[in-house]
Amino acid sequence: MSLDAIRALGVVVGLGAGVAVTGVRGRDGGLLEIGIELAGRPCCGGCGGPVWSHGASTVRLADLPALGRAVRLVWAKRRWRCPRSGCGVCTFADQDPEIAPRRARMTSRAARHATRRAGAGRAISEIAAEVGCGWHTAMAAVHRWGTALLDADTARLDGVTALGLDEILMFRGGRWREKHWGTTIVDTRRGRLLDIVAGRSADGATEWIRARSSLWRQQVRWGVMDLSGPDRKTFTDALAHARQVADPYRVIKLANSAVDDVRRRRARHQRRSPLSDTQAAGEAAERVTDRGRHKLRGLLAAGDPAARCETRGTPPRLCAASTGSPAEPSPSRQSTSSPATSKPTLTAPS
Ligand SMILES: [Zn+2]
Repeated sequence: MSLDAIRALGVVVGLGAGVAVTGVRGRDGGLLEIGIELAGRPCCGGCGGPVWSHGASTVRLADLPALGRAVRLVWAKRRWRCPRSGCGVCTFADQDPEIAPRRARMTSRAARHATRRAGAGRAISEIAAEVGCGWHTAMAAVHRWGTALLDADTARLDGVTALGLDEILMFRGGRWREKHWGTTIVDTRRGRLLDIVAGRSADGATEWIRARSSLWRQQVRWGVMDLSGPDRKTFTDALAHARQVADPYRVIKLANSAVDDVRRRRARHQRRSPLSDTQAAGEAAERVTDRGRHKLRGLLAAGDPAARCETRGTPPRLCAASTGSPAEPSPSRQSTSSPATSKPTLTAPS
């Protein structure tokens, strides 16, 4: 290959002016290996003086495909030694983050591409096949660059006043394909994902919140959760001043599940037709303690400040469970048209 062709190949694979192509090797249509090294002799980073050669080592880096072929950069990293006895620098090797950061197995440009693809939702195995490397190499690159992006993107944490927590199944792994969970941390007002921490216990989210500044924690006024114990503990421990609210959907689902449970149990034991909604609501209301009723009404009022449940028509059995009295069936068509007597309404706690 001529000198011009080698230089052109360096441009194709994105090598800078300070990088010299030392050779090209590869079978037709197979893996293309491009040997590179940094041009020139560096100075000592400690004293600024000249350094002596101290050998070299070879690093193979996965790179983006070029000319329809998978590419490996074979970087001959030279080692250098400072001869001055008083200098704190003993030996060091060539480094160029534009080619690849220290201990990386993939070039920087390929890692940026892999991180963008992962951010677009592509699987790591798919990205590894595109680049022509192993799964672990692709995952390590995405993890390294993704972590740096998250650390640099502090703007996403600005102005958070309502913080939401929810568990998410990340993957199944191990011999028995055990479930591995995570907890998503969300700015619920803007619908923006802030971070994901490992596990679904209270520890991960609590540690994440406590790692924020006290000013940031003080501006969070609402803690939005799905009625789970760990989420409640997280907000109680880390954001004690924030008001805890629940999604109305979760509250209604929980109340309806309680009513359905009573109805099924009654029908099973007494061997008769299932209870009507009104009968089940009456029995469910009797099973709710005063403290539970107060909590249910408070969560409904806090999680539904616009009273959408009330205006759209709350199911009679839920109203009965929250108010403590069974819903009365409408005695006549005329009484149904009257808002005051047609169905119980939810009221905010005083
Ligand atoms: Zn030195």
